[in-house]
Amino acid sequence: MANEPLQEQLSLLYQLQERDLKLLSTHQKLQEIPRNIEQLEAGVVQYEEDMTAKSAELAETEKEQRSKNAEIEMNTVQREKYQDEQRTVKTNEAYDALERQIEFLDKEDEEAEDTILVLMEKSDQLKEELAALEVEVNREKEKTATETAQLRQELQNLEADRNEELKMRKAFLSDIEKGLRDEYHRWMKAQFENQSGAARSKTGFVALSKNGICTSCRIAIQPQTLKEAQKYQKQVYCSSCKRLLYVEPATPDVPFP
Ligand SMILES: [Zn+2]
Repeated sequence: MANEPLQEQLSLLYQLQERDLKLLSTHQKLQEIPRNIEQLEAGVVQYEEDMTAKSAELAETEKEQRSKNAEIEMNTVQREKYQDEQRTVKTNEAYDALERQIEFLDKEDEEAEDTILVLMEKSDQLKEELAALEVEVNREKEKTATETAQLRQELQNLEADRNEELKMRKAFLSDIEKGLRDEYHRWMKAQFENQSGAARSKTGFVALSKNGICTSCRIAIQPQTLKEAQKYQKQVYCSSCKRLLYVEPATPDVPFP
């Protein structure tokens, strides 16, 4: 004859396990969301860094332009000086020497003007890129603000859900025999103490058995063990995965799981 208390206890323990698995997934989401928020915000920082780098490049280009203009101004002063000297020199050689200096200054100016043209084109290009980048940064900032606000809201809702679930769990727990729930907690705790176990805990301590198969490890339960388990007189464990078996009752009118 079926021992109803044990069958009911297995059913309760299985329900507790379902609650805990849901809690576990909530807990994981609660850990993931802040990481997602961080990633989104890091994306904006990257954009801002790109903008800072481009602004610096523009400033450097403009500085080079100013320095080339200063060179030309200095050459103008120097040229006037040579021209003044040309008016007072006594020999043709001295005059020609000054002329060559002036020609050198002219050549330098020509090169500086070419460079300035290139720099001006570069500045214009950078200003255009900077303006486009600014639009992009602002769009990204807006998008990130919306997305992170949604994530923060989700976080809040999940926290509220979790707290509610924990409260309900506590009330539910007292219906389960202490020995059984201690065994369950010990098993769960042991799984979490090692990395591979954390993954194993996702399938739980209580293994359902349908059609003579352990649903946790997919191994067929020996007929003798199955018969034993269906009496619900003592706890029966899967010989393969060592989980506590909660077997489908032999009589179909009993609700399962
Ligand atoms: Zn098993």
